[in-house]
Amino acid sequence: MKDQLLYLLELQTIDTKVKELEAARQSLPARTEPLRRDLAKLEGMLGGERQKLAETEAWKKQQAELLAREHEALRSAKSKLQGSKTGKEYNAASREVDNKKKSIHDREAELKKVTEALGASSTVIGERDAAIGQLREQLAAEEAQVAVKVEELGKQIAEASAGRDDLRAKIDKTWLKTYDTLAGKRGYAVAPVLSGTCQGCQMRIPPQLNNILARMESLEMCPRCGRIIYRKEMTEQGDAKPGETPPAAT
Ligand SMILES: [Zn+2]
Repeated sequence: MKDQLLYLLELQTIDTKVKELEAARQSLPARTEPLRRDLAKLEGMLGGERQKLAETEAWKKQQAELLAREHEALRSAKSKLQGSKTGKEYNAASREVDNKKKSIHDREAELKKVTEALGASSTVIGERDAAIGQLREQLAAEEAQVAVKVEELGKQIAEASAGRDDLRAKIDKTWLKTYDTLAGKRGYAVAPVLSGTCQGCQMRIPPQLNNILARMESLEMCPRCGRIIYRKEMTEQGDAKPGETPPAAT
């Protein structure tokens, strides 16, 4: 029975270690999450700015076309002015020339402002683009680091699991099933009893059961948490390793 208990404890040590390593491996990709979020946000902002820039450029093009048409209209107003025969015609043509000149002047002033604004936002977009490029590089570097660590942990998991199958093969099938069920439900399956108290659930076990444990003739379960229990001092007394003949329990 002591052999079985020691195998179970050994299995539990392996499983605890593997579980720890697996949890560490699983938590790794989340490390790059904040940076990934920042990057997505900046990319979204940049996209918005690019769209605005494109819209302003389209508007500018439209204004330039209108300006060209106004220049055309000014030319025809000027030729009307030259060809005017009466004072009334002259006045009308003269007013038209003035109007066209004014609207050309206004539109030109506006186009100048828009051109300046476009230049400024192009600069901002360029800067943002460079910042995003840097963040992308940083993210790629972090992801590469994570990948290396994931691989390292994978190796450690494989190392820690070595011999696990052989060990399981040595354990009685019924107890193995109990072990697996408990490990799944309670986190771990085998708990020591210290001074008559189950360390899995902190309940004092009945003295009778404690005496049975001292005999080491059977595997017992805690009446409260159901874990497989053993007297800690019994495993420490002799340091028999699994496979060796355990010293006679006293
Ligand atoms: Zn218990």
